[in-house]
Amino acid sequence: MDMQRTFLDRLFESGLLIDTGVEGLYGRSGQFEDVISAFERLIDRFGGADGAEAIRFPPGMNRAYFEKSGYMKSFPQLAGTVHSFCGCELDHVSLLKCMEEGGDWTGEQKATDIVLTPAACYPLYPTVAKRGALPANGGLYDLQSYCFRHEPSNDPARQQLFRMREHVRMGTQADVTEFRQLWMERGVKMMAEVGLEVTIDIANDPFFGRAGKMLANNQRDQNLKFELLIPITSTTNPTACMSFNYHQDAFGLKWGLTFEDGSTAHTACVGFGLERIALALFHHHGLDVNDWPEKVRSALWT
Ligand code: 5GP
Ligand code: ZN
Repeated sequence: MDMQRTFLDRLFESGLLIDTGVEGLYGRSGQFEDVISAFERLIDRFGGADGAEAIRFPPGMNRAYFEKSGYMKSFPQLAGTVHSFCGCELDHVSLLKCMEEGGDWTGEQKATDIVLTPAACYPLYPTVAKRGALPANGGLYDLQSYCFRHEPSNDPARQQLFRMREHVRMGTQADVTEFRQLWMERGVKMMAEVGLEVTIDIANDPFFGRAGKMLANNQRDQNLKFELLIPITSTTNPTACMSFNYHQDAFGLKWGLTFEDGSTAHTACVGFGLERIALALFHHHGLDVNDWPEKVRSALWT
């Protein structure tokens, strides 16, 4: 039996997710959103006292920053670009004619200055770099954004447009590795509070192509990425619901994130996959939140 299909069907039937006709692109009900809001408050309860600077970017980013980030080198298969009609009246006539004849009208669309944000932290690095040198104690930021990844799938835990909540630390190597360790411990505690059993494992990003295999191996060898996994649509293949990424000084060098003495900052980010966490909760505790264990309800709604 196709377990993935079954869970997605149940989510549609219950109205928690709303079918749009595109795999991985769903509407969400008020109830689904309420679970996400409640979980975000739990994140604040654990991390709020750290004093992170909250910043919210829209789900599109400056194309020039995106190009400089190197995303197209590593993940061309996942990127989404925003294109628009930029022609004259005559071009418009041909466009309408092409659409009427069922032709491919999209070929004439031109790239705009906006690409869809691939991870919540991407717009942050150039933004902080523009402010000038980092203070000696570095920086800590709290982000949330819809992110786009072109990977259509009927697994409800793999969506094309989903939200990522992130905390990002910039500082010395010691600062950022300590930050990452702290959130790994917090992640496990938070999930225990909401009745979810987790494992943490070393991981790698889905780098493209043959050269990407080497990047992935390097990332694993150096323990740069960990994921917190929860079974959702498969027990043998649990889903990454949080990731803990240490970028060493790669982003610091790329964007010019430096301290006053000119030395380069290290960075790390911790990401919560908000839809995945909500889906894990619905999968483990049932589709009706009123039936969830009291302990879980009080952790989320106190
Ligand atoms: P990463 O940048 O590590 O790939 O993603 C950060 C977090 O975003 C992941 O740990 C996961 O929780 C969430 N995420 C990644 N890809 C998807 C996806 O395709 N769908 C959903 N809903 N969440 C995702
Ligand atoms: Zn990040």
